[in-house]
Amino acid sequence: MILPKIKVLRSHGIQYIPDLTKVELTDEFRGRPVLTVTDDMTDAEAAARLCPTGAIGTAPFTLDMGRCLFCGECALRAPRNIRFTNDYRIGSTDREALVARAGDAAVDFRHCQVRPEIPRLFNRILHLREVSAGGDASVEMELNATGNVNFDFGRFGVEFTASPRHADGLVITGPISANMAEPLEICYNSIPDPKVVIVCGSEACSGGLFGNSRAVDRTFLTRHEVDLWLPGAPTHPMTFIDGVMNLIGLKRR
Ligand code: SF4
Repeated sequence: MILPKIKVLRSHGIQYIPDLTKVELTDEFRGRPVLTVTDDMTDAEAAARLCPTGAIGTAPFTLDMGRCLFCGECALRAPRNIRFTNDYRIGSTDREALVARAGDAAVDFRHCQVRPEIPRLFNRILHLREVSAGGDASVEMELNATGNVNFDFGRFGVEFTASPRHADGLVITGPISANMAEPLEICYNSIPDPKVVIVCGSEACSGGLFGNSRAVDRTFLTRHEVDLWLPGAPTHPMTFIDGVMNLIGLKRR
């Protein structure tokens, strides 16, 4: 009876990623942008005009990953100035570090900004409550994937929990719609101190396409300190895993 089941298991082979610190994504993945200043910046200026979220600045030349939807249109319009790499290590403790500039070779995680109690208390176990505050379920699905058989982030004790009372931290997705502002605040208050706050996805980082909408209320982010900013539309599971591993001291970028 057990032999057929063992056969099936063997046919599946090893599915989990043995070392999450050494993952490389395919070239097709759009991650950290590389910006190049050229003598003629006409194409870059045109790309800035077509960007739906105003993520591109021209003076100086910047690309704010916290506003970027990673649609790739700007790279098609200005290929000499903007190129997307497959680098998924784009989270940071500092919102400002998400703004890519010409000459940048990596996103600065800024370990010095991590509160000392975070690695001390959550290095072995971190349970998170996720609140979709007007999200479209894309980031939420990727967060679910972090616990699947492939990524198996639970091997480090990082898991999602249903109750904020059982959580060590909060993960916010979506632009934070006005009708989710109060539930988000209630959830935050229900998590015991000390707690971690992670903002996940470009919509959560900036409001994305809805940043200027009257239906959005982002005052939560002015009242509470954020420990980790993770861009992406949606955020790749490896961006989340890399950011959290850096935050709780399991790796150093
Ligand atoms: S990839 Fe990002 S910066 Fe470029 S056009 Fe799309 S949203 Fe704007």
